[in-house]
Formats: sequence, structure tokens, C-alpha cells
Amino acid sequence: MLLARATGILKVLSEMTNLACRSGCAACCIAPSISSPIVGMPNGKPAGVPCVALDEQLRCRLFGDERRPKVCGSLQPSIEMCGNEQQGRAYAITYLTRLELATS
Ligand code: SF4
Ligand code: SF4
Repeated sequence: MLLARATGILKVLSEMTNLACRSGCAACCIAPSISSPIVGMPNGKPAGVPCVALDEQLRCRLFGDERRPKVCGSLQPSIEMCGNEQQGRAYAITYLTRLELATS
């Protein structure tokens, strides 16, 4: 019982401190607006619209490319923003949509 609880706490701590971007999520590339030009979106990206730079696997085609907007590197994965594996993408989209509305 105690061991199970400790394991659970360690798992949560690990998620909080060492979170990686979840493949197939792309909430950061859909929910927020981006005001700077993107290749294929010269006026930037409206909120809620998938970025044209996303490929079929929802990965960024511009990753590592100097044309990728600087702002794209500013959103770092966090449990607060990304949610956990169970909450998944729907949670992240909701969180980022609320953030967008609160800051626009
Ligand atoms: S919300 Fe988190 S998991 Fe989803 S794309 Fe952004 S950083 Fe990655
Ligand atoms: S340029 Fe890449 S990282 Fe930035 S919003 Fe588009 S797909 Fe996402």
C-alpha cells in the first residue's frame, strides 16, 4: 500500500519535472493564435486553426528551421498545460483555448 502510494507520487513528480511533448498532440500548434508570419500563413495563425506547418503525424515541418516563428519555442511542456496521459489532447486544447481567451 505504502509502496504503491510512493510509486504514484514519484510518477507525478516525474511528470512535473521531466515532461516531454506528447506525440500526436499538437494542441500548441492549434489552439493559440500566432501573430508572426508562418510559411504558408503570411498573416500568422488564428486561434483554433491548425498551423499549416503540421505534417500528417502532427509534427512541425519547420522544427530546426530558422523560418519557424520564435514564439513556437516559448511554450514548454508542463503538466498544467499538457495534462497527463489520461487527460490527453482534449485537456491541452481546453487549457490553451482558455489561456488564449484570457490573454487576447
Ligand atoms: S500541449 Fe503539451 S503535449 Fe501538447 S503539443 Fe503542447 S507541449 Fe506538446
Ligand atoms: S510553426 Fe511548427 S511549432 Fe509553430 S505552430 Fe506551426 S507547426 Fe507548431
